[in-house]
Amino acid sequence: MSDITVIGSNMIDLMTYLDRMPVEGETVSAPEFEMGFGGKGANQAVAASRLGSDVSFISMVGHDNFGKEQLDNFKKSGIDTTGIGVGDCNSGVAPIFVDPSSDNRIIVIKGANNELTPEVLDEYEDKIKNSKLVVLQQEIPLETNYHAIDLAVKNNVPVLLNPAPANKDLNMEYVSKVEFFSPNETELATLTGLPTNNLDEIKVAANALIEKGVGNVIVTIGSKGVLWVNKEHSEIVPGKKVAAVDTTGAGDSFIGSFAHYFTEGESVPEALRDANQYAAVTVTRKGTQKSYPTKAELDEILK
Ligand code: ATP
Repeated sequence: MSDITVIGSNMIDLMTYLDRMPVEGETVSAPEFEMGFGGKGANQAVAASRLGSDVSFISMVGHDNFGKEQLDNFKKSGIDTTGIGVGDCNSGVAPIFVDPSSDNRIIVIKGANNELTPEVLDEYEDKIKNSKLVVLQQEIPLETNYHAIDLAVKNNVPVLLNPAPANKDLNMEYVSKVEFFSPNETELATLTGLPTNNLDEIKVAANALIEKGVGNVIVTIGSKGVLWVNKEHSEIVPGKKVAAVDTTGAGDSFIGSFAHYFTEGESVPEALRDANQYAAVTVTRKGTQKSYPTKAELDEILK
């Protein structure tokens, strides 16, 4: 059984780099195309596993070659794939179009991720029960996350919920049951309906969630690091100063590495500091999962 159970999405990122975006009805040829493994659940599972955690991933891949490639990638990253099912639909994909000014257009087709239903989770209650932490995001049906929270609470396992992408329909009754709730500023604003344009506003919005029963609110604030709030305490854990080249997937690397450090036995502030460090390294490298270092690479980089 694994220390961390991540329940969530996997996607294939189809990155097309264009000289300019086509206008309506136009066909353009693009100089560069790249395929990458993504999906928030997958990214977080990969980050924690590369750092050395025993990670079990509960997810659905599609009935296609992308699904097979995803499974290979998880195995190569050391993840327990026995909770990954093959759905009836195609794999989740994200065609991404980027122009030279870094403007982008992204389309997400969730595909098999929508087949990760509450009933599927019932098969894996043992995995949840025997982990130290359950990690959730929001690229699978909300009802599945609610059921995951119920199963974790029933088995006394803490939950880390990363409410990304933002969804204003998220039920506060479930949010109040999680130990760690980690939005970015935009997701915090969407959920609370409060402004989050500066640190004072972010603190007010985070405290509103604490009042509703959330154990710890961890707001990621980019290069500034994170704001950590609970009933007794409020603290900024500063980000590490680095020359960022690509911040894609920084949020997922932060969540996955926090899960690793916390379940390894670090205190919350120690785990936040080390997750800031891990995420900072990933923004100095291009790509999403491919920017996530292993423990050995990280030690080498920080030497
Ligand atoms: P994304 O959606 O791009 O993955 P996000 O909005 O979910 O990102 P951010 O708050 O931008 O998440 O970043 C998550 C964490 O990554 C931060 O809390 C910080 O630890 C680290 N980080 C992000 N950008 C930088 C940066 N420019 N320099 C150093 N650390 C960074």
